[in-house]
Amino acid sequence: MPTIALAYVRPITSTPIKQFNLRMEKKRILITGGAGFLGSHLCDRFLAEGYHVLAMDNLVTGNLANIEHLFGKQDFEFYHHDVSKYVHVPGQLDYILHFASPASPIDYLKIPIQTLKVGSLGTHNLLGLARVKKARVLIASTSEVYGDPDVHPQVEEYHGNVNPVGPRGCYDEAKRFQEAITMAYHNVHNVETRIIRIFNTYGPRMRLDDGRVLPAFLSQALKGEPLTVFGDGSQTRSFCYVDDLVEGIYRLLLSDYHLPVNIGNPSEITIKEFGEEIARLAGVEFRPTFHPLPENDPLKRRPDITKARDILGWEPNVDRAEGLRRTFEYFRERVPSSTPSN
Ligand code: NAD
Ligand code: UDP
Repeated sequence: MPTIALAYVRPITSTPIKQFNLRMEKKRILITGGAGFLGSHLCDRFLAEGYHVLAMDNLVTGNLANIEHLFGKQDFEFYHHDVSKYVHVPGQLDYILHFASPASPIDYLKIPIQTLKVGSLGTHNLLGLARVKKARVLIASTSEVYGDPDVHPQVEEYHGNVNPVGPRGCYDEAKRFQEAITMAYHNVHNVETRIIRIFNTYGPRMRLDDGRVLPAFLSQALKGEPLTVFGDGSQTRSFCYVDDLVEGIYRLLLSDYHLPVNIGNPSEITIKEFGEEIARLAGVEFRPTFHPLPENDPLKRRPDITKARDILGWEPNVDRAEGLRRTFEYFRERVPSSTPSN
């Protein structure tokens, strides 16, 4: 953990020094997974909107570098804490965004039990906190609840095709349980809940080595290495730029709709074509190496975003060409030996 940030890390049991801060008019929002890729962008957005932001993270896959620029800001606090254990924050709380969870297949395959715990126990803790604080809670679900779908594009009414005992089961089933317990808290305890089903999202602050396809391909292209295509590359995904997703989250949180909403960019592409686009962007020849398709890897994925359009007035604004350019800049500054060769 970088020492610069440690000075600002507050133990979860700490009492706020300035009690009067608790009665400020600013809305207070807790963002779990706040040091991760999406969580850190959410911290930025809610601070920019004038909220007091409490970020919480155990740093299992996140990085304090993502939020280092926020340390020292009066309206930002960071709690180093595992949300699968009892969660408490001092003072009033208006909103909770529960984004803590490993999200990349190589991460959750390494720590399947922690992944199941943060989706189940972690979500239970945060729903309990929301109930006590009378806060509205939005939970980060995923297109993975649809598994390897046999309805295409995926509509929210589709119940999915998930293998609970396959390697991805720890993530997919944790998220399905997360949705179920969230609905139960809504129905039984009248907690104000929101459920977002996020489709593959990319952008700056993804971990260079998190194993997801975009960091893998961009890092490989920048190093002049062959791109590792799993299967024959004909499986599809639909990639959403992070700023668009954050706008969707913001709108859903402030909406009055409690059933799941897909947020993603419906522009669908095969993984092989995606590799070709990234190689072109990096100015290198597309040289794929083919590897076995991981077990239960969904063959196709594209969101139906009719609900997001109708209920939130949301649709993506950043096309893949522009989103990839912005992400490429981030990676180019960070990938070691950035000397692409043909
Ligand atoms: P990420 O790995 O960058 O961020 C997750 C963060 O959660 C990390 O900072 C990690 O340290 C933290 N965390 C994990 N377990 C924790 C625990 N027990 N206690 C406290 N902190 C914990 O991943 P991301 O892409 O930013 O994903 C964030 C959320 O969005 C996840 O819930 C994920 O399932 C969901 N999601 C993301 C995508 C996507 O395309 N990025 C798609 C669907 C769903
Ligand atoms: N993928 C790939 N090469 C890689 C990493 C991933 O071909 O180096 C494929 C993977 O098999 C999947 C797609 O890219 O079909 C998206 O994978 P990612 O891990 O990014 O997300 P998810 O499978 O969770 O949608």
